[in-house]
Amino acid sequence: MTVRTRFAPSPTGMLHLGGARTALFNWLWARNQGGKFILRIEDTDKERSTLESVDEILASLKWLGLEWDEGPFFQSQRTALYDQKVEHLLREGKAYRCYCTKEELDASRAALEAAGKKPMYNRACRDKGLGDPLQPHVVRIKAPLTGITSFTDSLRGVVEFNNAELDDFVIRRTDGGVMYNFVVVVDDAEMGIAHVIRGDDHLANTPKQILLYKALGYGIPRFTHVSMILGPDKKRLSKRHGAESVMAYRDMGYLPDAMLNCFARMGWGFGNQEIFTRQELIEKFSLDKITMSPAVFDIAKLDSINMQHMKITPDAELARLALPFLRKTRPDATAEKLAAIVPLLKERSRTLVELAAGAEWFFTKDVVYQPDAAAKFLAEKARPALEASIAAIDAAPVMGHNELKGAFTDLAAKLGMGLKDIAQPVRVALTGGTVSPGIFEMMEVLGKEETVRRLTAALNR
Ligand code: GLU
Repeated sequence: MTVRTRFAPSPTGMLHLGGARTALFNWLWARNQGGKFILRIEDTDKERSTLESVDEILASLKWLGLEWDEGPFFQSQRTALYDQKVEHLLREGKAYRCYCTKEELDASRAALEAAGKKPMYNRACRDKGLGDPLQPHVVRIKAPLTGITSFTDSLRGVVEFNNAELDDFVIRRTDGGVMYNFVVVVDDAEMGIAHVIRGDDHLANTPKQILLYKALGYGIPRFTHVSMILGPDKKRLSKRHGAESVMAYRDMGYLPDAMLNCFARMGWGFGNQEIFTRQELIEKFSLDKITMSPAVFDIAKLDSINMQHMKITPDAELARLALPFLRKTRPDATAEKLAAIVPLLKERSRTLVELAAGAEWFFTKDVVYQPDAAAKFLAEKARPALEASIAAIDAAPVMGHNELKGAFTDLAAKLGMGLKDIAQPVRVALTGGTVSPGIFEMMEVLGKEETVRRLTAALNR
């Protein structure tokens, strides 16, 4: 049987790191097993669901490259199916209409609480027959009063709940709206989901869902409840720890593949391996290597993973990804030209934003000198070094960085200066600042004419 997994976000906000990791685990398991990954938007909560959230979630998944095979299905468009299932449960006597008013419910709960008992529904309508469908009512499940409900979780083994603790919970509200625990079961079953992988915040919902699987006559899927993501301080991940939304990381210049690598390492492992390509994740992923201990998100770790991914990403691809960032300040930059200087930058950049910032000097018509750098390195005393550099470059037969380095080493010896004393004025002349790739590598990519032009401009300043 084909493995079918799903990601079922509620569109009530942006896609968070935790949600993205859930999506990833489902996607990886489907891809690893040659199965299907289904996207379902759980938008039954009309007040909290928004179209902007839907758009943001879809865009985030697309950016991460977690493409789905079926969907997105919207629960708001499936109400006929849910109503049919509610009617079925009513007919079979597995659910009932409850006409209790809010006041009655409050009073009975208060009485239970006063008696030191768990405030549950007192089941006043449970045995009253089907009742009038036209009178305002909710539909409740007829939960077993004794015994145990159990299910198997891949990480926890057999999990048991005492049925006496389960309420006759509502599956359809007075306004006709259907409840999460009900629709999630109908959909997972009808969509053929045999592996439910989700956050362990849903663990407590699972016994209720098991009751519904049984009542509806569906087979029970395999559950994997993944631990929550914590910040480095071991508290639940939140704004305190930095950005929460996936898109914020895109805007900070992280690579989608590095994000996936980082998510995968939060709660899953394969020996001591830290860096995984997308393809390796697909090949190596398995549910039994997911750990139960809480996963920790640390931006320093993401930085280091991202840097490693920058190194293994082909130059042309990095240029394509960094171009939108560079275009903010250099609208005329092209991916082709950027690709030529990516090798100078990829080892020293943590993110695409850093790479783009590091590339600005190349796309400059008139170098803008940082005042401190200019005061220090382009003062009158730099004249001999700059003049000699121009002459050396003019005379250079080839603009290879090794040849240039040789020529400048000879030049420094002739002038009785250290190579550094020549390099810094040249660096400021070429880039405007004191931090840059190696000057010979820069000269090589700038070419003779442009290098001389920039050095002359600095000299004439
Ligand atoms: N819609 C639920 C949520 O966003 C997920 C439901 C599930 O995975 O079972 O938390």
